[in-house]
Amino acid sequence: MSTDICVNLANGQFADEEVTILERAFSVGVTHCILVANDLASSHFLANWTIATAADQGTRRLPICRSTVGVHPHDADNLDADWLDQVRSIALMPNVCAIGETGLDFNRNYSTQINQRRCFDAQIELAHELQKPLLVHDRDSGGEVAARLANANGGLPGVVIHCFTGSEDELECYLKAGYYIGITGWIADQKRGTELRQLVQRIPLEQLLIETDAPFLRPQNVPVDWHLANNLSSRHKRRCEPAHLPFVIDAIAASTRHSPEQISQATQKNAERLFNLEP
Ligand SMILES: [Zn+2]
Repeated sequence: MSTDICVNLANGQFADEEVTILERAFSVGVTHCILVANDLASSHFLANWTIATAADQGTRRLPICRSTVGVHPHDADNLDADWLDQVRSIALMPNVCAIGETGLDFNRNYSTQINQRRCFDAQIELAHELQKPLLVHDRDSGGEVAARLANANGGLPGVVIHCFTGSEDELECYLKAGYYIGITGWIADQKRGTELRQLVQRIPLEQLLIETDAPFLRPQNVPVDWHLANNLSSRHKRRCEPAHLPFVIDAIAASTRHSPEQISQATQKNAERLFNLEP
């Protein structure tokens, strides 16, 4: 059993293939998926999708799927006046288990930093009000994500820093605050993953979560002919899928003293606790 805590199922790369993609993940042991939203449209889509497919999940053909509701920092410039009310009402739908992804991205700055801060703070407050965990994106915020979370942390039921790629100082700060750390296929990247392969050794199993961030960040340890073995056309050669989660587990195992089984068991327990999933 394992949980992929970040599948961007509403992404166009998965259009009309949602079910096959999740079936493939289920067949390699991915028993639970958190379907992550990044704007109001994807939040709506995913909340409705989990309701529509609940029966398939019940017969165990698909992973059990829960979704998030939230606005990504990239989208903070394009918000309706009532966006927060819309987030709140989606958050109350049956399978919505967390607020996110939300945070700050000062690497790309697709939205102004002022709007990113405003949008992030509002969602931190909402998570506090609704007692939902937060799925957080932090790219080059220079400690600001940590500071803003710290203001509210007393009242938050849980935080995961998804797709962690930060520095040692940032990691220590997040661990000390008791947050979970999400590790993606970034760790298998020959060049970009060097620092992460060192840092992952410092994450206690009790604070580790695993994710593919599909369709992004395909792990480099996935065989180049994987798509052929899975009857996929070569246009999907680079796409990441939740079925790649075992490769993320293997890459973490290769960098730590933990076996793949230990990683999968511990992260499963953590995901159940954080997102309130039934085992
Ligand atoms: Zn992200």
